[in-house]
Amino acid sequence: MSIPRYKILVIEDDKQIQKLLEVSLEEHQFLLKICGNQKEGMAQAITFNPDLILLDLGLPDGDGKVFLQKIREFSEVPIIVVSARNAEQEIVDSLNLGADDYLVKPFFVGELIARINSALRHFAKKETIPQMKMENLELDVEKREFRLDGIPLHLTPLEFSLLKFLMQNAGKALTHAQILKNVWGVGYQNDTKILRVFVNQVRKKIETDPNRPKILITISGVGYRFG
Ligand code: CA
Repeated sequence: MSIPRYKILVIEDDKQIQKLLEVSLEEHQFLLKICGNQKEGMAQAITFNPDLILLDLGLPDGDGKVFLQKIREFSEVPIIVVSARNAEQEIVDSLNLGADDYLVKPFFVGELIARINSALRHFAKKETIPQMKMENLELDVEKREFRLDGIPLHLTPLEFSLLKFLMQNAGKALTHAQILKNVWGVGYQNDTKILRVFVNQVRKKIETDPNRPKILITISGVGYRFG
């Protein structure tokens, strides 16, 4: 049985540290890609699609904190900053910009590996909890539950399915037929009346003013949109 190999992107310009990381991480079965600057690192963050990034701060094309800021605009990949800078402010700034962890050079290889594994574990957990939140409405797929301001909502199974489908497609205009087919099933796609009844029921449970809905929006002549 093969064990899954995690991909790690290293953004580090110091050749000796590159070598050290290469040897020690490959020994631990990680797949590595090493870049010496931010520009290349950003390209690899997209094409190599790493499970984790090790980021140096003092890079030839600028401060690694700029990289942090940029990548957090589109990715939640775990990032551990590995830097010689040991000032509290550097650490605090890096964490505030979205780094998951910070390790000061020189470091113990064993500690780095432990932190990598911890970050990967933490991220995997985060990914498998299927939860969605929008404003004060929260969906907990595992518990099959919606909560409004933290309080569980009483929904019938069909109301739940309807709201879940709409929330999972938040921001998109969905036609009556699309909603009916997905929630009720094939054969119901023309039953817009039943859909209207259910939407009104759900609105009473989630909207502050069901007559002026802010969550389940009617798109006249088309269907509905969540949010
Ligand atoms: Ca450096």
